[in-house]
Amino acid sequence: MILEEMTMGEFEEGLTLTKTILVPFGSVEEHGYHLPLSTDTIQAYEVGKAAAKVVPLFIAPPVHYGCCRSTSCHPGTISISTNTLENLMKDIVHSLYSQGLRTFIILTGHAGGTHKMALVNAGEDLITELLDIKLAVLTEYDLACSEGREIIETVGDAHAGEIETSRIMFLYPDLVKGTSQREFPNFPPGIIVRDKRKFWPNGVWGDPTKATPEKGRRINELVVMKLIEYIGMLESFTER
Ligand SMILES: [Zn+2]
Repeated sequence: MILEEMTMGEFEEGLTLTKTILVPFGSVEEHGYHLPLSTDTIQAYEVGKAAAKVVPLFIAPPVHYGCCRSTSCHPGTISISTNTLENLMKDIVHSLYSQGLRTFIILTGHAGGTHKMALVNAGEDLITELLDIKLAVLTEYDLACSEGREIIETVGDAHAGEIETSRIMFLYPDLVKGTSQREFPNFPPGIIVRDKRKFWPNGVWGDPTKATPEKGRRINELVVMKLIEYIGMLESFTER
């Protein structure tokens, strides 16, 4: 059940089937010269929609903006603060809660450390504020990495590389503009640098030349299966 396509009546009816909702979080972030800025959002939203075809599940409209640090100097990246991100997630969950939803899967396509931390922080606040909810924060990219380990050839592939390029080639081939070269950033360990792009010129972390739509299809399928497993696990989860 895709929230942004539903009517008031359909939403009401949907609540009799499930009180579980997946909220996709993404980013507006450079993904090399060949992938769209919405790459992270697309991946989280699309696996959510695919899961909702199999199990009763609401899918919230995606939150396109995220907190991006290492790509902040690259053209096209639009980043919001961790404060804004935390408040955004909390407001959305509170509002969904008032509408009757009780189980929340926060699925982020963007895997930046500070971004993930903000979502977990918001989650910690929410479970103390709303005592009858269940909430999980999952990183879609981590699921792709672990589930796709037999498929992925590039060691350390992380951003706009083999994994993400394969997946967008499968999901939205028209949005893939050629390819980019294999690249890994060379940030000095521990030092927070001002000009991030100097240490990561083309914004690729991995090897997009190894990408194929077939790899993307298989990784996607595995992620959807794992996601469905997580949803079942969270729904039946009890701390008592
Ligand atoms: Zn990404």
